[in-house]
Amino acid sequence: MKFTDLGLPESLILALKKSDYDEPTPVQQSTIPLIQEGKDVMATSQTGTGKTAGFVLPMLEILMSNDSKQRKIRGLIITPTRELAAQVHASIEKYGRYTELKSTVVFGGVNINPQKKTLRQGVDVLVASPGRLLDLHGQQAVDLRHVEYFVLDEADRMLDMGFIHDIRRVCALLPKKRQTLMFSATFSPEIRALAKAMLFKPVEVDMAPRNSTIDLVKQVVHPVDKKKKADLLAYLIGSQRWEQVIVFTRTKHGANKLAKQLDKAGINAAAIHGNKSQGARTKALHQFKDGKLTALVATDIAARGIDIRSLGHVVNYDLPNVPEDYVHRIGRTGRAGSTGDAVSLVCADEIKQLRDIERLIRRDLARVEVEGFEPEHQLPATKTRQTRQPSKGSESQGRNRQRSGGRAHDENKSKNRVGNTQGTNRRRRRRGARKAAVSA
Ligand code: AMP
Repeated sequence: MKFTDLGLPESLILALKKSDYDEPTPVQQSTIPLIQEGKDVMATSQTGTGKTAGFVLPMLEILMSNDSKQRKIRGLIITPTRELAAQVHASIEKYGRYTELKSTVVFGGVNINPQKKTLRQGVDVLVASPGRLLDLHGQQAVDLRHVEYFVLDEADRMLDMGFIHDIRRVCALLPKKRQTLMFSATFSPEIRALAKAMLFKPVEVDMAPRNSTIDLVKQVVHPVDKKKKADLLAYLIGSQRWEQVIVFTRTKHGANKLAKQLDKAGINAAAIHGNKSQGARTKALHQFKDGKLTALVATDIAARGIDIRSLGHVVNYDLPNVPEDYVHRIGRTGRAGSTGDAVSLVCADEIKQLRDIERLIRRDLARVEVEGFEPEHQLPATKTRQTRQPSKGSESQGRNRQRSGGRAHDENKSKNRVGNTQGTNRRRRRRGARKAAVSA
């Protein structure tokens, strides 16, 4: 199928050509015609599959077709994080570059006055984080009475306890007659029920088995004691020459500490989390996207929707307490058809989180010990676990090692174990570990 088969206007087709998109992705093929028909849609789609264009393209088409040029907010998109809001807005600007529609983005953590000024000048599309949107409304700086098209991106996050009250307040400000769309990589059963109640006769689009992880992402667990995690991470980055990695920690303090430890080990790293100023968050993300940082250490704030092209590695330094967050985290890699590795450093007291994740994604993750980092406190085996070849996890290790030093991994020598089976690798590890000199 071609984009022209979807009946999109010329100006959008031209912008897609400029973006080098040849054909619509499966989620776009499914959602665009439904949205064009005016239906409410609830779409579950694996992250990185092009869902943003799936709702932005038909929105632009609809708004262009009845453009009165009054510049009232007719399209409203709400996202849970500032970074995602900025990214969705960038997509709107990219796809809408040959239209006359005006758009802007508002979120907290930055001066509200320039946002008020832009809104006063009039926009057709507003991308917003919920808190700042309500602040602006409280200051009579935003009028939502003309919204025709309302999107909740990362809807499961938007409807959980942290945001649901804000979302209900926003919904109360919108016209009853509108088209509402909800997109997310995951929907828990409770959120699914809540979401349905906010939609009118929604059509469900389920592009993936529920809460499944992307097949293109190779997933592996390295059992390791908590105190050795930082050393192991520095070792993996250094010895396997990872170009770039996002590392997820559970706490903001943990993110700061780890970024410092990596920096000390000679690995360019920055932390990004909710306590950082918006300026610092934007700067770190830009530096990472520009390839100036090797490691971005983040709390789950960065797990949602952020699109970093050809990111090869995601590391779960701590496992998330909410298993769905695992799916979002690892979805930062393996995007738009490319492959990626998701590596989880798991200590014995994280076994419950690991089991919850395995239950959610309906598969057991290969445990692969790294020589020199074998845990003193063993990770209990999963009850449901099937016997697995270690190759799933070690495949990627082998590939990386081949790239870095031309040595393939010898699986026969170390079943369920990677690294250091050869003298050179052992020496390299010691060198790496010395250089790392990071004590957790
Ligand atoms: P998303 O899931 O919306 O975050 O998109 C993931 C990535 O896929 C982004 O880098 C998009 O620019 C890219 N993308 C979206 N649609 C297409 C398409 N039809 N062809 C190629 N790449 C696409």
